[in-house]
Amino acid sequence: MASGSIGDVQDPNAQLSSSSHSRWWAKETVAVVTGANRGIGLEIARQLAKLGLTVILTARDDAQGREAVEKLSSQGLDVAFHPLDIAYKKSIDDFVEWLQTKYGGLEVLVNNAAVAFKEHTEDNSVKHAETVINTNYCATKSLTEALLPLFRPSPAGARILNISSRLGLLNKLQNETLRKRLGDVEKLSESDIDEFVKMFLKQVEQGTWKSGGWPEVWTDYSVSKLALNAYSRLLSTRLSERPERHKISINCYCPGFTMTSMTKGTGKYTAEEAAQNAAWIVLLPPSLLPNGKFFHGRRETNFSKL
Ligand code: NAP
Repeated sequence: MASGSIGDVQDPNAQLSSSSHSRWWAKETVAVVTGANRGIGLEIARQLAKLGLTVILTARDDAQGREAVEKLSSQGLDVAFHPLDIAYKKSIDDFVEWLQTKYGGLEVLVNNAAVAFKEHTEDNSVKHAETVINTNYCATKSLTEALLPLFRPSPAGARILNISSRLGLLNKLQNETLRKRLGDVEKLSESDIDEFVKMFLKQVEQGTWKSGGWPEVWTDYSVSKLALNAYSRLLSTRLSERPERHKISINCYCPGFTMTSMTKGTGKYTAEEAAQNAAWIVLLPPSLLPNGKFFHGRRETNFSKL
């Protein structure tokens, strides 16, 4: 899947344009990765560290986070660690304060942390729907909003990459009214997205969600990623209004079916391949960096289509 390794920093640039692009980042470029103690997040931290950025590996479990950092350090990679449970405001506040004091800000945010609670690909249990929606959508949004003031002005443009899923594309939503509402870029508001997830959770509570026209596969997870994609689209508009040097781009990326704990080790791609693509997207040269796009692998697509 990952055509061309990003281990060589020239590769992504060379494939993107016939003209050569110089590497825009430096050791001072700070990248924060959430849920990076394992899986795709750990591999993204590894890729970015290998490419010479200052990486802050975060994890909700202190011991697991430190173990991951030690693993990377045994491979000669210098990565910083701070605990961060995105589902808790106090944890976000502590992290923001630490980052501000220690590094003065950031240029890159990779929102990778997420939960699914699925035993296999056909598992459609909604037992943990509230945690799934809260983590994958609400908490990711809370962390993003808390970090926005810390993004430093950058001539290359700061970047946010939300690790999302094709399961959260609009065509997965069977309910046409909801699909139209969520897809109406001109009229959609953040409260519409919040209402959308609340409606789902209410139907889960009442046991009526099966006839609600929600996505058919991994329903609660898909709803959470639908909300994340919609929020990313809205935020991209907001961010595009910032003055030139304060611009931040935000894009979503689906790694495809990847062998991690989330999929019980099944999948088509390795976490390393998934992470190579994530690093490739988030490090795109400024002139080629889109805003408000959805990537499947390295392919840029619209949020509304596969
Ligand atoms: P994973 O191995 O289960 O990793 C998920 C990571 O998120 C873990 O480090 C987990 O920490 C962390 N996390 C969960 N809740 C958190 C919280 N409240 N605060 C901080 N960290 C938290 O799964 P993965 O496959 O690498 O998933 C990474 C991303 O890829 C996710 O956004 C997922 O939705 C997306 N994705 C994966 C696939 C796939 O096929 N694997 C496909 C499409 C999209 P703990 O270790 O403490 O639980």
